[in-house]
Amino acid sequence: MSTNLTENLIGLNNQIKDLTLKYKRDDAVQLIAVSKTRSSQEIRAAAEVGQKDFGENYLQEAIEKMSDLDDLPLIWHYIGPIQKNKTKQIAENFDWVHSLDRAVIASRLNDQRPEDRPPLNVCIQMNIDKEESKSGIDENDLFDLAQHISSLPKLSLRGLMAIPSAKTNFDEQYNSFAKISALNSELQESGYATDTLSMGMSNDYEAAIACGATMIRIGTAIFGERNYK
Ligand SMILES: *Cc1c(COP(=O)(O)O)cnc(C)c1O
Repeated sequence: MSTNLTENLIGLNNQIKDLTLKYKRDDAVQLIAVSKTRSSQEIRAAAEVGQKDFGENYLQEAIEKMSDLDDLPLIWHYIGPIQKNKTKQIAENFDWVHSLDRAVIASRLNDQRPEDRPPLNVCIQMNIDKEESKSGIDENDLFDLAQHISSLPKLSLRGLMAIPSAKTNFDEQYNSFAKISALNSELQESGYATDTLSMGMSNDYEAAIACGATMIRIGTAIFGERNYK
């Protein structure tokens, strides 16, 4: 199992390198290993071949793994839905939050971020395909939320995140990602110093890289299929 994981990770890193050349990307594409439902031992195995950034969706599970792995210099990304009663532990334990989509949550994360830690890096989650069931905000609400976040000293607005609806066609995937990239350019033109596009998962990361993703969030292609308990 861990042999596979190591091979997958090395293969994926090579592929990311090839894709950055293919799409003439001069900035880096960073790999976030999405380790939800995966054990601390699997994360440790990934860390042994150089993986530093890990994404988690479930708070309790994440906190346990962080404690198992606190001897390693890992960077933790919260990528799941955020309930109000979870903000304190998220603010205290994570380096990044990709799934910020409400002003009230932003305020709580800011107030609960410990003074001795640097500002929490955040991305605003966009509901790019306007799906009823999905988290994320409508593009019409983007500037209000961006402005609110910018007023909070313990948050650092880094960019946008999205989980487009599942598509198998490259051009359709590309079109969704291109919308996010365009919104980020609008933010930058309005003076926001955003540098992050968190988009692309196991089934669509090539299109995301083609569109300028700076962070791709990959689970299955590293760890294999997930078994939800
Ligand atoms: C699970 C998850 C991923 C990884 O998905 P894979 O298809 O396994 O690569 C990425 N982003 C978010 C927000 C997720 O919940």
